Amino acid sequence: QIDSERFLWTEENVACSLPVRKPSSHKGSHGKGLIIAGSRTMTGAPILTAKACHRLGAGLVTLALPDTIINTVASQLIESTFHLCPSVNGEINSLNLDDELMNRFDAIAVGPGLGRNNNGEFIETLLHDFDKPIVIDADGLFYLKDFLTILAKRKGTTILTPHLGEFAYLINEPIAKVEKNRFQVSRDFAVKYGVYLVLKGPYTVVTTPGGQQFINTSGNPSLAKGGSGDVLTGMVLALLMQQKDLQSAISNSIFLHGMAADYLISHEYSPLSVMASDLINIMPKVLNSIQ
Ligand code: AMP
Ligand code: MG
Repeated sequence: QIDSERFLWTEENVACSLPVRKPSSHKGSHGKGLIIAGSRTMTGAPILTAKACHRLGAGLVTLALPDTIINTVASQLIESTFHLCPSVNGEINSLNLDDELMNRFDAIAVGPGLGRNNNGEFIETLLHDFDKPIVIDADGLFYLKDFLTILAKRKGTTILTPHLGEFAYLINEPIAKVEKNRFQVSRDFAVKYGVYLVLKGPYTVVTTPGGQQFINTSGNPSLAKGGSGDVLTGMVLALLMQQKDLQSAISNSIFLHGMAADYLISHEYSPLSVMASDLINIMPKVLNSIQ
């Protein structure tokens, strides 16, 4: 603990708060998650997010994709199911999900690889119509900028996972200023909009809607590569469906994500060579090594 509002999140915290499976559980007990992601030029992002979500124990994972990329994505994902969204220029244009269908999911993650060329009105629809947790990442955050005022009124929880550049864009400030004051600006934002804000980078900071801050202690620069963030989004979605305490779920995902990178570079991988998919593949061993 650093002060009354700031804490470090360590392996010890993870060890005593990771979900344990009950013998009587079934796939419905472990969460039914929807991932809205992907576009014609970004077909890998939805694959990474969905695989990471499976690896962290989600019961069921459905991917909502632009209808035009289904074959490419589905050929790499045999455990997921799919929902096809109408697309324009290879990007999702609307969700094609009515309220009832949408609310069958326990949580939604939106953003990886969506692209930025449509109007993003489906993000507004989601925020209004879905009253359970939503994780917003990447291009989902780009679209969110137009609908920020809806956040504070949402019934469900919202979790935002920007890196510095995405957060600076969201709050209209220069990156350097955000970097210098990252604790203060992320707390101001999380409290104002009533969200969990995950400001990513070395020592990722999670701020709760109440303003408490949890600093991650795992990870290394091998994570500074395309795809790392997509993996994290799937991990956050998986754990938040399986753990009651949301802050622990979020901080645990971040810790395990960094720990996977640490594990790889202490077991024969060069930090240059670690790829986002390696994080997913090593996750079983990382989870089993937690003590
Ligand atoms: P994104 O920028 O969305 O791909 O996310 C990158 C992920 O890698 C985040 O979880 C970051 O915290 C992590 N990451 C990136 N660079 C570093 C670094 N130099 N040290 C530790 N973690 C990093
Ligand atoms: Mg990203």
